Amino acid sequence: MPKPKTLDKFRDVQAEIGRTGAAIFRDAAGVESLVIRFPYAIEYIHSYAEDSPFFLGLAEGKLLGSRCTNRRCGFLFATPRGHCMVCGKPTEWFELPKQGRVHSWTTCHFGSEAFLAETPYNLALVEFAGAGSVLLARLKDCTESEIYVGMPVEARFSPIPKYSITDVWFVPAGR
Ligand SMILES: [Zn+2]
Repeated sequence: MPKPKTLDKFRDVQAEIGRTGAAIFRDAAGVESLVIRFPYAIEYIHSYAEDSPFFLGLAEGKLLGSRCTNRRCGFLFATPRGHCMVCGKPTEWFELPKQGRVHSWTTCHFGSEAFLAETPYNLALVEFAGAGSVLLARLKDCTESEIYVGMPVEARFSPIPKYSITDVWFVPAGR
């Protein structure tokens, strides 16, 4: 069997192992590493329990947040929370606006398997008027240099929901 191909770019290594199952990656220091395909699969049976309405909401194009039922507190969470993290009382669901603003963001140049096809990709913490916490989601349809803190963004929902947090993402408002 011929020795696997030696390549300097990891992208080329990924393409090569896709074709042949093995390649040698030579890094900037000249170290040569054998890289192989190592497929694995794990199926989880996962219950969303009290968070279920949030994921069912995404499938209907709704972003649900949690509101503290203690009227003296009334904290608004932009995420599913069964109980208030401020006062400990139960929460109730309310619909968040579909528009928000970038609170903070990062561009990921390495991604887990689910995101390899869209790497590099942007992750943003989105803030909503009146809500006291932020929602972490992908920010699409814009480049790294176009994003800024305070940027208006709006939610987009997957037409084929998978009941996952990736069923929602944001794009620059008005696009
Ligand atoms: Zn509270």
